[in-house]
Amino acid sequence: MASKYLGIDIGSTTFKAVVLSDEGEVLESTYQRTQPVDSGRLACTGRCSGCGNCNMGSVRKTTDLFLKEKGFNYSDMAAVVVTGSQIVDDTKRFIPFDFQVSEVSAHVAGAKHFYPDVDAIIDCGGQDSKCMVYNPGMQLWTSMMSGVCAAGTGSYLDSVAAKLGVPVEEIASKVNYDSDTEFSSVCAVLSATSINKFKNRIPLGDLLAGACKAQARTILNSVGQLLLNRPGRRILFQGGVASNGAVAHYLREMTGCEIIIPKYHQVMGALGAACLAREFVNLKGKLNLDKIEYEPSRQKSVAMRTSCTKHDFFSRDTSKPLVWRNLFFPPEILNAFGCRIRTLETYAALFARRPQRVKQALGCAAQKGFDQQTCSFLRVLEGMHLEQPDFVVSTSQPCQQAERIFEDLVAEYRIPDRLFSLHTPINKQTPNAVDVIADGLAQAIYLMEKSFGRKLDMGRLEEAIDLSNQAAAYGRKCNELRWTSPPLVRGSEAIYNAVVFSQWWGTQEFVDIQKQFYEELLQKKAWAEKRYSIDDTHRLLWMHLPPFYDTRHLDFLEERCNAPIVFEETNFIGWGPLDPKDPLRSLAEKLLTTGFLDPALRIEYVKKAIPAAKFSGCVLYTHGFGRCSLADRPFARHLRTALEEMGVPLLALEGDCMDASIDPCSTVTKISSFVEALNLKRYGNLFGKLRT
Ligand code: ADP
Repeated sequence: MASKYLGIDIGSTTFKAVVLSDEGEVLESTYQRTQPVDSGRLACTGRCSGCGNCNMGSVRKTTDLFLKEKGFNYSDMAAVVVTGSQIVDDTKRFIPFDFQVSEVSAHVAGAKHFYPDVDAIIDCGGQDSKCMVYNPGMQLWTSMMSGVCAAGTGSYLDSVAAKLGVPVEEIASKVNYDSDTEFSSVCAVLSATSINKFKNRIPLGDLLAGACKAQARTILNSVGQLLLNRPGRRILFQGGVASNGAVAHYLREMTGCEIIIPKYHQVMGALGAACLAREFVNLKGKLNLDKIEYEPSRQKSVAMRTSCTKHDFFSRDTSKPLVWRNLFFPPEILNAFGCRIRTLETYAALFARRPQRVKQALGCAAQKGFDQQTCSFLRVLEGMHLEQPDFVVSTSQPCQQAERIFEDLVAEYRIPDRLFSLHTPINKQTPNAVDVIADGLAQAIYLMEKSFGRKLDMGRLEEAIDLSNQAAAYGRKCNELRWTSPPLVRGSEAIYNAVVFSQWWGTQEFVDIQKQFYEELLQKKAWAEKRYSIDDTHRLLWMHLPPFYDTRHLDFLEERCNAPIVFEETNFIGWGPLDPKDPLRSLAEKLLTTGFLDPALRIEYVKKAIPAAKFSGCVLYTHGFGRCSLADRPFARHLRTALEEMGVPLLALEGDCMDASIDPCSTVTKISSFVEALNLKRYGNLFGKLRT
């Protein structure tokens, strides 16, 4: 009878496998460098005999050989679990595995096998480093991963070793531990360049000391925040780089913590996978891994939105004045004026659906001097052709870069006198905040009247405010339904509604769309409640925007990980009814209460929403890798602290909403490990729900 468990970890540079006995004993293990495939096709059918010529074929061959050499067959294995960054959709055709887990969870499972009380782990591999810490308050494992650059990874030490002609295995024994040589730890390339510079002047032992110190510091800078200020703590150091005693030495020095290098440190991921294979077998028959379903009828509201978008953004009706708007300027005024509105960030996002055009636009922007320091929404605008507007409205907060780029654009399109930037105090506590904004809006109206050569019909503005109220009322009802029901629509679709930023506030069309959406949700609720209770699933809140170029990560979260995004921050309506008789002050109030101006208010909204909507996790997409003021490091930090107090974990995903070329590589692992941690907390195992 099959009573062994196979764990396989295919990393960026090495292949690891562990065979575990029923009693939890490591029977066999292997750790070997993978070789690049230099011939054959990159992918084939998986029905081959394991010639090893294609990449997955080579993995299959390595696995087969390992089992054969150790005297095993697949039939001896009660279950196979795989992990590692090189596992792809195709892998199953080559390795018959039962389950795939993230490297984070595999490393935790491996560590806990020999150190059941472990609560802090650093794993440093060839491509990234990770830090996993158990949070007793939230009762789950939290983790951080590097993943954008080679600094702080084994590849950095490999390149240093190659430059100095020292085998990586011998680095630790050659380090001069008394040396105070330091290298840049900001960037692997810069750091390696420092080595070139000093190669012939500084003794080898000092150079290696500098490199290992830089390595330890970069690990701590990128993922070690969870460990700082906790001297005396016991940390398990695992992964290939843990073989390097010098890095462990400097980690010890820098953290003041006890650094333990476990016996199987190189194969901890594979060991964890094998342990999880054993757990999987024990749970067989008890797991309910059915995917969550949604009421299948097509949403008419989606078609209505699409038609509105097409009409608005691609209309060439020159009888109406064209206004460029940023995301925050109140659209009710522009709709009352009867303008054609072009919300430029939204326009850029629509553009992002065509990857080739975005690449071209970003290229043009780069030639104008806008590199990756500038927000990619704004870079796209700098790099594309825009229809010349009659007027331009922007705001000073919350996106300061937008205001500057709008200034730059009007200079380039030679219309500097047609820009009005609304001064937007950051919060209601600012003295006279409402009056300042209302005065600014009056000024904007005056300038637009001059530019359009006609007065704003105040009756039309009143009407627009009334329509805005009607749409908001339906919006609130929609949100209430979504908050108090099982998942009704996929977040990966609803996120593109982003009603807060809509330019249709103040139009009948928007009221109709919201009403239609509300009616659809009622129908979906009736359907969903026959099948699920509100407590049946994870309930995620998505904060800030998604990547617009594809929905891969959101689909992965909802479909593969079975963790529905129940609501999106950009659909939240935080303001109360507006007063049609006092439109400008009302719009000022609305602007101040949307939440996006004031980070503290935004966090307050989340704190209120968590118990009301039973959110069990929160995802913050940090557009621009944390450079965007709407999702920057201080905001993420404050959000994390607030959520921690409420026992709700945060997944901060680094990435970019527009520029697909700078997508970091570990996003899928971060998402999987986040949901696995939620599963573990909720169901007591990381695979998923148990049958009732
Ligand atoms: P991955 O899982 O991403 O393939 P590993 O965890 O196997 O990565 O780590 C690979 C890295 O570990 C290599 O880049 C190398 O720098 C380092 N490494 C591996 N073996 C040793 C060793 N014996 N001594 C020092 N460093 C090592």
